Amino acid sequence: MAGSGPTILIQGGGVSGLVTAVTLAEGGARVTLSEAGPRIGSGASWYAGGMLAPWCEAEAAPAEVTRDSLQSLSWWADHVPGVVRNGSLVVAPPRDQVELSRFGRRTSHFETLGSARIAELEPDLEGRFDHALYFPEEGHVDPRCALSGLRERLLTLGGKIRLDSSVKDGSFDWVIDCTGLNARETETNLRGVRGEMILVRCPEVTLHRPVRMLHPRIPIYIVPRAQSVFMVGATMVESDDSREITVRAMSELLNALYTLHPAFAEAEIIEANAGVRPSYPDNVPRVHRDGQRLSVNGMYRHGFLLSPARAAEAAGIIFGDQA
Ligand SMILES: Cc1cc2nc3c(=O)[nH]c(=O)nc-3n(C[C@H](O)[C@H](O)[C@H](O)COP(=O)(O)OP(=O)(O)OC[C@H]3O[C@@H](n4cnc5c(N)ncnc54)[C@H](O)[C@@H]3O)c2cc1C
Repeated sequence: MAGSGPTILIQGGGVSGLVTAVTLAEGGARVTLSEAGPRIGSGASWYAGGMLAPWCEAEAAPAEVTRDSLQSLSWWADHVPGVVRNGSLVVAPPRDQVELSRFGRRTSHFETLGSARIAELEPDLEGRFDHALYFPEEGHVDPRCALSGLRERLLTLGGKIRLDSSVKDGSFDWVIDCTGLNARETETNLRGVRGEMILVRCPEVTLHRPVRMLHPRIPIYIVPRAQSVFMVGATMVESDDSREITVRAMSELLNALYTLHPAFAEAEIIEANAGVRPSYPDNVPRVHRDGQRLSVNGMYRHGFLLSPARAAEAAGIIFGDQA
């Protein structure tokens, strides 16, 4: 049922656009979302790991990212099915224990586990690591299912979705740019950070939560999905190059996966891809206002984690203006 509030055009159907659209429609706005690609999630959002990890991300992110992302797990759980709240695990091979200590110094809200407790949480990792950091308050989603859940929710709320980037913006009360890296046309300080990822299917291994494996050069993470699928990610390359995954990235990700558990050697590779994260110079997502136009962009590696907070900020501006 469409609201009677302001009319809003949201450009871009990635996680930023969809979370903003749903948030505004829930507040009573009449929302139209336009997406230039062939489906919602035609940009970086399609390749994400879907980790909702405010405490682990603090390892490299400023405090405001952690602060603004604390509510994201409950936001996602309230809005889409399939949110898993099993925490996350961080491990390092024996030669890289110094990396585990360093990670622990830069983060909080974790328990340090020995091998027996690691085996309780993840039986398939029994005997493989002496120590781990366990962040029990974290979670994850399958990004593609989450985007589809938001699409359904928006339609239920009376929102419209147009797979067409030429929707005229003149007739709307507000226009919100959520076009990710494409917003560079007007926001020249946006840059791309390329991330390569692989999906494998491996019925021989079961994991109950994302596992980050530290390494001085190529830290990776493995996120379990339904039907024995695992997302393995991700490289961080200062580039807006969106071509296919490179041989180097593929071999580094697969080597690390195999180090986590040798049974992954028999896994079936079902997808290998690259996405480009839209990023501001400080890597912090922002809402910008210019008259009746907003931009909710620069999600960097935090699109799933921070879109709920940035969407709430955009709603505060729009509904605040009405009051
Ligand atoms: C490998 C990888 C792993 C990641 N893992 C995580 C993770 O675990 N957790 C997390 O929180 N984040 C993660 N991220 C980051 C996250 O994916 C991004 O921050 C997020 O997807 C950016 O979302 P967005 O909606 O801003 O941009 P995009 O997803 O790029 O969406 C922009 C959309 O706008 C459309 N568009 C462009 N121009 C127009 C136009 N003129 N009109 C209409 N539509 C237009 C595009 O087609 C696209 O669909 C990861 C990213 C990568 C690449």
